[in-house]
Amino acid sequence: MLLKDLCERSGVSGDEKEIRDFIKSQISGCACLEDTMGNLLVSKGGKGKRILLAAHMDEVGLMISGIEDNGFLRFKTVGGINSDVLLGKKVYIGKDKVSGIIGVCAVHLQSKAQREETIKEENMYIDIGALDREEAEKVVMLGDTAVFPPHYEEFGDGLIDAKAIDDRAGCAVILRLLKNTYPGIELVCAFTAQEEVGTRGAQAAAEYFRPDYAVVVESTFCSDIFPTEPHLHVTTLGKGPAVTFMDRVATPDRALISSITLAAKENDIPWQQKRTAGGGTDAGVIMRAVEGIPTAILALPCRNLHSPSLVIAKDDYESLYRLLDVWLRTVAPSL
Ligand SMILES: [Zn+2]
Repeated sequence: MLLKDLCERSGVSGDEKEIRDFIKSQISGCACLEDTMGNLLVSKGGKGKRILLAAHMDEVGLMISGIEDNGFLRFKTVGGINSDVLLGKKVYIGKDKVSGIIGVCAVHLQSKAQREETIKEENMYIDIGALDREEAEKVVMLGDTAVFPPHYEEFGDGLIDAKAIDDRAGCAVILRLLKNTYPGIELVCAFTAQEEVGTRGAQAAAEYFRPDYAVVVESTFCSDIFPTEPHLHVTTLGKGPAVTFMDRVATPDRALISSITLAAKENDIPWQQKRTAGGGTDAGVIMRAVEGIPTAILALPCRNLHSPSLVIAKDDYESLYRLLDVWLRTVAPSL
């Protein structure tokens, strides 16, 4: 299953080879280029306005930054990970997927003050079972990246739990669209690198393609959980893909957004507005590339973003695919 296969691959920002190779293996009949930033750039071809679809393939994770005499590993987070989600979690390190546990001092030994404060990453370690530094250095190198355990599970009423859904779901949707034919447009796609560390890959991708229009296919946060106030939920799981009118780094093109939401209404595909101006995506650099590129963001609502277990609704995932498919087929040729 495509989404499962994508989520299970490793690809921490700057170390995307495994996921990039897998995505490339899923593409046929298109010209593919791996650029120096680590992006995978795909040209489907066709005649008409050049439409860029972009999704980032990198995921948040860890990077090994030190090896202690006792064999414990020190690490830095890569991308926006709250240290609260790390304690006691399993990770897999480097190409050989060395198994490790993020250690925590037993609650019995913590003072009251320690129990009430957030433990920072510099006070955590990864235990790979090595007895000393020499043994650890046989299997781990400084600079190796680490990912949360690959898993994919359908549960509850049509929900999916996996690591790295942000933004392998966007990659999956684009890979599915690439199998179709869209007359009247030239379709190009970017599976971008290094998004989670500051949208570093997307600018090069946009400059390379110089598209007439761009749509960033993302995963966004859904905080419809206790104790968040309803007006701070941002998106609601199961209510369709979210359209962004503004975030921290982008002001998507209003006319382009309208063309997408109109296609949704005419085809009875649910959609929702992202109800915050926070966060940022590749759209922030794509819209500023070249002489400015009209850009929209369509995003999948996602609980527990940037954690080991992200949750989406299968219906939202399908609606995101259907909306982009119908928009590319019926609206994009007349932009
Ligand atoms: Zn993302």
